[in-house]
Amino acid sequence: MAIRNIRKDGDEILRKRSREVDQITPKIRMLLKDMVDTLYKADGAGLAAPQVGVLKRIILVDVGTGLYQLINPVLKSQSGEQCVNEGCLSVPGIWGEVKRPAQVVVEALDPDGEKIVVEGEGLLAQALCHEIDHLDGILFKDKVIRFLDQDEINGAR
Ligand code: ZN
Repeated sequence: MAIRNIRKDGDEILRKRSREVDQITPKIRMLLKDMVDTLYKADGAGLAAPQVGVLKRIILVDVGTGLYQLINPVLKSQSGEQCVNEGCLSVPGIWGEVKRPAQVVVEALDPDGEKIVVEGEGLLAQALCHEIDHLDGILFKDKVIRFLDQDEINGAR
């Protein structure tokens, strides 16, 4: 088990665009394993590779309904809209309201290189969009409509 250091807002790597994964090498599998360990240690709902300092298009999402390990995820379609409270492991202590699609369809490769399609709604749609944004250097706080105050943060957790 290897926990990787989670990069925090202000680290320029979080603002860079991640590159596609050409080949799922043992090194990529090791990265995935470490990301899983890091995600659960931090008690997050998702993690993107740039958050651990690797500019590759890899995300993890687990909103309590199982773990998705997605390589080269692409948002194929989105519909509806939801206004949700959001935070980020790379932006500690800050929460805000963000508009996200209510439903999304994401195509990706799984850790074995097989194509998978994830249809998500609600929290899963939100988390998928949040993590894919990380791959393009976008942080949730860029999209915040209203930041939550401390009482609301305590209530939101
Ligand atoms: Zn995040």
